[in-house]
Parts: sequence; structure tokens; C-alpha cells
Amino acid sequence: MSWASFSGDEVAALTQGESFFAAPAERACPACGRLRLRAYVTSPPAARRPTLVSYAWCGACEKFVGTRSKHPDGLVFSDPLALLPDAERRDLERSLTGFLVHLDRLWDTGVLPQTFAA
Ligand SMILES: [Zn+2]
Repeated sequence: MSWASFSGDEVAALTQGESFFAAPAERACPACGRLRLRAYVTSPPAARRPTLVSYAWCGACEKFVGTRSKHPDGLVFSDPLALLPDAERRDLERSLTGFLVHLDRLWDTGVLPQTFAA
């Protein structure tokens, strides 16, 4: 596994089109064009301000981006990882590569994508 970051242009392309919250299905990857772009968002409970951490990745070409932003007012979503014990979650997030592989597997098994309501 050799995950790399999306380029600036690819990240810009990710923000085009319909919001992931409105259409959380897989979409075309801006780097390789395959329908393998997936995303996961989480809201860290320890954050001082309501924060949204977003991951988008493509398992075909192994590119990803992670961003932090303000949690949009009223946005509510399911978070399957919130059920994990804290220690297990920390272990999982220790390696970004391992975390992305885990998220990709959750998607393959139907645990992801999340459901969103605003
Ligand atoms: Zn790709």
C-alpha cells in the first residue's frame, strides 16, 4: 500500500457537484476516473468547537485527502466508528493508511456510507 495525497487540482475537483451529504454514494475519482471515490466524516467529541473531519479516498489509485472544517449547523449523521471503545478507535487512527483501508472495508461490507440528515 502506498497511499498519496490528492493534488490541489484534484481536491478542488472533489468540491464540485452535488454535496456528499446529499449524495453519499461512490463517485468518480478525480485522479483515476474510476467510480471508487468514497468518503467518511466524523465529529471529534474532544474538539473545542463543533468540528467536522472529512476523509475522501479512492481505493483504486490509493489517493486520499483529509480535511477539518466547521460542523455545519444542524447536520446530523450516523457514525459507525462512534461505537468503538476509545482505545480501539485510537489504535485504528494511529496509522492513516490502516485507517483508510479499514474505512474502505467498511464500505465494501455495507457499513458505510453513512446516512445524513440536515
Ligand atoms: Zn482514483
